[in-house]
Amino acid sequence: MRFISTRGGSPPVTASQAIVNGLAPDGGLYVPERFPVLGKDLFNPDLPYNEFAAGIIQPFFEGDPLYEQIPEICRSAFDFDVPLTWLTEKEAVLELFHGPTAAFKDFGARFLASVLEILQEKADSLLTILVATSGDTGSAVASAFHLKKGIQVKVLFPKGRVSFRQEKQLTCWNENIQSYSVEGNFDDCQRMVKEAFQDSELAKEWRLSSANSINLGRLLPQMVYYIYGAAQYHDKRGVYPSYVIPSGNVGNSVGAYWSRESGAPVKIASLAVNENRTIPDYLESGTYTPRDSVQTLANAMDVGNPSNMERLLYLFKDFKTFKKNVCASSVSDDEIRETIRSSYGAYSYILCPHTAAGEYVREKFFAGKNTVVVSTAHPAKFEQVVEPEIGVHVPVPASLKEMLESESCFTEIKTDFNELFHD
Ligand SMILES: *Cc1c(COP(=O)(O)O)cnc(C)c1O
Repeated sequence: MRFISTRGGSPPVTASQAIVNGLAPDGGLYVPERFPVLGKDLFNPDLPYNEFAAGIIQPFFEGDPLYEQIPEICRSAFDFDVPLTWLTEKEAVLELFHGPTAAFKDFGARFLASVLEILQEKADSLLTILVATSGDTGSAVASAFHLKKGIQVKVLFPKGRVSFRQEKQLTCWNENIQSYSVEGNFDDCQRMVKEAFQDSELAKEWRLSSANSINLGRLLPQMVYYIYGAAQYHDKRGVYPSYVIPSGNVGNSVGAYWSRESGAPVKIASLAVNENRTIPDYLESGTYTPRDSVQTLANAMDVGNPSNMERLLYLFKDFKTFKKNVCASSVSDDEIRETIRSSYGAYSYILCPHTAAGEYVREKFFAGKNTVVVSTAHPAKFEQVVEPEIGVHVPVPASLKEMLESESCFTEIKTDFNELFHD
């Protein structure tokens, strides 16, 4: 099993090489050269999640030095629940927020961290992971890499622009995790990371690596829960559901499309985006126009230039094929608020703003159908949006509570990336 670049100018590599490289040398993203055919016996709803995951992921590591260790990696990465919760007889929510930082990014970050830790066992120098974050990614990566041997992490976040709880989750670490509060916005943080990578001497000296969502190591585990959720749904109702997926950089939805390409019974009803309309506009006009992002209540989806679009466009080649396979709807802040209220009223179920965008799309276009909305985060991470709508306190999950009660530790810096490399 080999991985090639979306831009066609890099030699094929195995999974672990693609994970170490992050980006392909020609600047493209790694995609499977051919998709493996996943056998039906792998879709067994009675398996524990980590065993189910190993069955799906292992074929992608065929011929890779890590092949035999995938079950062990999955055991350590996926040690939390992935429940399907039913709102009505046919309408369910797949809860991906039971990991340590209460968002789906724990799946990708934890798998990536376990893989890199094993690959580092044989290395004689420290690997440095740089990650710029506007919220959820940084905390998932920090938590996943905390105390991993041979790896240090530098997390950059924009000062005063993340919520109180997000900042707590980004700064409660120590040991091999350093957090930087940058006097600038998210774009400054991203630019600093990019500049550090472009400084080839520095990149070599510090062995810089990236944990952002273009890394193959974050995508492969994001295929698994769609298949697992479909198997759970089928087990109960005898049919397979269609998914609605709240989307920003579309890494999560690429996982769904890749699982379908591998023969899994995963149907995709629609992507739900917020007021960042790049993809719905493309579907309407046939012209792809990336743009600056606009700020919304579903802030983890505030993306105007989705980084994983390159993988989707590669998969579907031309506009006609893309349009046949991808459906996307934009949801406004008012519609998100309204859906948080109405779902609490109808089902006593509390949605985070991102999941609410998905639920809105289901109710508008697929009401009463066999559907699953992917829930990307726990509502307690966004209590300042959610609580005023429903008028009750959102209970805080235990792992989140622990982070909120820990002491904060971070360094304040300006926007020069060299400040990251003073010891
Ligand atoms: C990152 C994130 C998303 C968007 O996922 P993509 O893979 O970027 O499309 C949606 N919801 C939450 C809570 C997130 O953290």
